Amino acid sequence: MLPAMDYVGNIYRPPSEAHSLLLQVTVGCSHNACTYCQMYKGERFKTKAWEVVEADIEEARRMGPRFDRVFLCDGDSLVLSQRKLEQILLRVRERLPWVTRVGTYGDTRSVLRKSVEQLTRLRELGLGIVYHGVESGDAETLRRVDKGGTVEECVETAERLRAAGITHSVMVLLGIAGAERSDEHASATAALLTRMQPGFAGALTTTVVPGTPLAEQQARGEFRLPDKLGLLRELRTIVAESELRATRFSANHASNYLPIRASLPRDKQAVLALLDEVLESGDESRLKPEHLRAL
Ligand code: SF4
Repeated sequence: MLPAMDYVGNIYRPPSEAHSLLLQVTVGCSHNACTYCQMYKGERFKTKAWEVVEADIEEARRMGPRFDRVFLCDGDSLVLSQRKLEQILLRVRERLPWVTRVGTYGDTRSVLRKSVEQLTRLRELGLGIVYHGVESGDAETLRRVDKGGTVEECVETAERLRAAGITHSVMVLLGIAGAERSDEHASATAALLTRMQPGFAGALTTTVVPGTPLAEQQARGEFRLPDKLGLLRELRTIVAESELRATRFSANHASNYLPIRASLPRDKQAVLALLDEVLESGDESRLKPEHLRAL
């Protein structure tokens, strides 16, 4: 992070944007309702003033070609109007000509507000990747966690981004349906990934964060995370039952117990063999020790 730039509140970015310039164009998340999320709690969603964004881009220009990628923060910057997004992307292109890709978080709400033509225009101006927290393919789970998007909308989101030529990076959450709906969640998530065919898919592990509605449900006994091997079984089901044609699949987030990085379908059998070996041994010591999980 660059101290001379204007940052409000907590700044989050996907792991693969670790070396990108973080340009905050909105504050918080316009949805801010998912039951497991505390990222922007207490932060009212707002669009940052153009003068502030403009000054940050100038600050980045002063540093020269240190960053060749830009990530637009916060939670769902794609929700900005087409006019505003074009203004930002154009300015990045003009003032930071060495930038090869701009990325942002997006979801069903923000993508489906835009037509394929509008998304194509954003891609032409540099928007190369949208990170989308799909979390689950199970309609009941999406309803319970108040995700704000449906399974069909996820599929339409994938189709629209593909038509616009924008890379779609999808995240799903192991454990988010609790032990009770674990099987339904894993199978439905595999089915949704098959329908979406994202370029990238990542499986993260649910962390129950104190202060969230999910933590309250857990305290009342209404939600119970699957155990470590249960989480691994979900991962196995997702890999086994999805039929991905060209997806870089990872389960290497710091919160995952067994890091995996694979090209699917090429590595499918190798990944399943590894998961089966651990699952059949029932040996939790093969999983990442608790103290190594950077949550
Ligand atoms: S859409 Fe993303 S940032 Fe917003 S509340 Fe849900 S998980 Fe959190």
